[in-house]
Amino acid sequence: MADPLKDYRRRRAGGKTPEPMGGQPSGEGPIFVVQEHKATSHHFDFRLEVDGVLKSWAVPKGPSTDPRDKRLAMPTEDHPLDYADFEGMIPEHSYGAGAVIVWDRGRYDNITEKDGEIQPLADALEAGHALVRLHGRKLRGGFVLQRVGQGDDARWLLIKMKGEGSDARRRPVSTEPESVLSGRTVDALEAGEES
Ligand code: MN
Repeated sequence: MADPLKDYRRRRAGGKTPEPMGGQPSGEGPIFVVQEHKATSHHFDFRLEVDGVLKSWAVPKGPSTDPRDKRLAMPTEDHPLDYADFEGMIPEHSYGAGAVIVWDRGRYDNITEKDGEIQPLADALEAGHALVRLHGRKLRGGFVLQRVGQGDDARWLLIKMKGEGSDARRRPVSTEPESVLSGRTVDALEAGEES
């Protein structure tokens, strides 16, 4: 079987970046993580544990709790599971150089149905339509990942579902900037401040 993390490792020099190179199962059931990443372009990385890796999307504006917002989500390479706990500075000249914090993290439930049954999430993503219920500190309730377009033009959208956790006024990416692990912000981390 092809190593799903080959792309991840190819881009990174082990020993030069503090990022994990492993991939231990989390043991707490499928998890999601949202990492704020102040790289060349400031963005949020949305990741879902699927079949032993973290499926990943870069979300330039970050997730929204407003069901009317459709947030662009660009697929990126699969990441190892232990990346879900990574925060720190990726050094200059390394791939993705800049500050990373764990902006939100928790378990999730796959709630994608097909023919009246839960569809495996890998299949749902392959088909371009997946529903998850997040149990994070900041993000809760249903979210849709929807692929639009074909081939090289394909894009994904991350959209809050109505109901639990939806709130058109909350704007957590700007009003709740602290890491759920350390309380630090990307700016504080970048400035080298201790929590
Ligand atoms: Mn990133």
